[in-house]
Amino acid sequence: MTQVTKVPQSYGSLENLVDGKWSRSASGQAQSTFDPGRGVPIADVPFATSEEVEAAIDSSQAAFEKWSRLSIFERVKYLYRAKSVIEAHFEELASTLTQNHGKTILESRGEVQRMIENVEAAIATAYTLSKGEALGQIAEGIDEQTVKEPLGVFAVITPFNFPLMVPFWFVPFAIVLGDTVVLKPSETDPLPTTLASRRIQEEAGLPPGVLNLVQGSREAVEALISNRSVRGVTFVGSTPVAKHVYELAGKHGKRAIANGGAKNSIVVLPDAKIDAYVPAMISSFFGNAGQRCLAGSNLIPVGRETHERLIGKFADASNKFRVGYGLDESSEMGPVISKASKERIKGAVARGVAEGAKLVADGTGKTVSGYPEGYYLGPTILDGVSRDMKLAREEIFGPVASVMQADDLESALEVINSKSDFGNMACLFTSSGSAARKFAREANAGNIGINLGVAQPAAYFPFAGRRDSFFGVLHAQIDTVDFFTDKKVVTSRW
Ligand code: NAD
Repeated sequence: MTQVTKVPQSYGSLENLVDGKWSRSASGQAQSTFDPGRGVPIADVPFATSEEVEAAIDSSQAAFEKWSRLSIFERVKYLYRAKSVIEAHFEELASTLTQNHGKTILESRGEVQRMIENVEAAIATAYTLSKGEALGQIAEGIDEQTVKEPLGVFAVITPFNFPLMVPFWFVPFAIVLGDTVVLKPSETDPLPTTLASRRIQEEAGLPPGVLNLVQGSREAVEALISNRSVRGVTFVGSTPVAKHVYELAGKHGKRAIANGGAKNSIVVLPDAKIDAYVPAMISSFFGNAGQRCLAGSNLIPVGRETHERLIGKFADASNKFRVGYGLDESSEMGPVISKASKERIKGAVARGVAEGAKLVADGTGKTVSGYPEGYYLGPTILDGVSRDMKLAREEIFGPVASVMQADDLESALEVINSKSDFGNMACLFTSSGSAARKFAREANAGNIGINLGVAQPAAYFPFAGRRDSFFGVLHAQIDTVDFFTDKKVVTSRW
């Protein structure tokens, strides 16, 4: 078994990375970041001042001039080094992630692995998809070609739930293509992002300004988007903020990728192999304590008999799911991110019960021995949820499953397509190829899973999303090659 790395109990005050140097903000505005498993603050997060944000942008703009002129092979070498740095610090990154976010160490290791896969995909992109096209003799003596050119400085804004993976949906692609980045991690758990940036900056030897990092929240985001030198923004977070970011980017004439929230349904047909797939369903609803944009939220067995066969097994397996401190290797589910989040989730469950749903597993009173102040909840299952209840339509972002009935696949599709405004993921469990095909074609969501509970696209596919889960055209991961470059068309006669 891999040994969990020992983590410091306190990190003091987090710094900004500007022009290759780490320095403390001059700002008086700060907040604490916590270890949610112990419920204690572990670092201060001073928010960068507008001057500091501007200095980061200026540094990235200056770095762009040289960085974009480097040969692609030179830039790729930095990415290989960054990959080695992440591998060398794999356990340190995973443990810090668990400490600051709460997810289990196993989940954190999976997340670090996703970082690495994105670096690898970015390297592959540099050699393949970043090439333009050419057509000779479009007219007598005339040839035409496209060249994909980097644009300049990009702002990368990330959420709390995947502080290592989500920045890597964008940063490696941007820099390998010749752009430079100002990264603004979530102020809720910025430690892992800050640590990864520090290790990469120092040990992969990135030239100053290619990657800058500023701490902060709304003010920093708005300052980044409205600055003339910033050519575009990538955002991942909640839907209201995604909409705001997308609108602001539009107002300032910037390109934007804005991923929002989710309300994902998992449909189970009568012919599904329930015993084989209950673990995948449990992991979908309760993995990462339900704080995934690809978490299952509505469980829809089709037909009364399927419901009866599924509900007992689902509830039994969730009651056995081991909730504990993330750095204990035996834990299967950690705490939620904050006390406020815990209270909000408990409120959503109580409202559901008041609306008539029946609690078949109640994790709202969960405590973990030895961690009395941690923000723990156990897997919670509400049965008899009707499709118009808030529980069925709004994002909960916690370990809560809402079970509702559908008579047939059409009616389950109706829940997915018209009862919620989100369109991030939809999954179907079945043994029928034709049902799977119908579902994949008709479910109005960006990421579709068949006999999978978390339909996470690999790094070399786009991370999709639709409706209120996504604003933009091009998606995260591999799609960003066309986001981070602009096509120039060269027509020549010789
Ligand atoms: P959030 O929207 O609160 O914060 C995301 C980022 O936006 C943070 O960096 C934060 O500092 C910044 N921010 C917050 N308020 C802002 C404002 N008013 N103006 C500008 N910037 C602001 O999201 P969160 O709570 O950190 O993350 C959870 C949400 O992210 C969930 O809704 C989840 O579904 C979503 N998410 C979506 C995806 C996806 O790919 N669709 C992936 C991961 C998470």
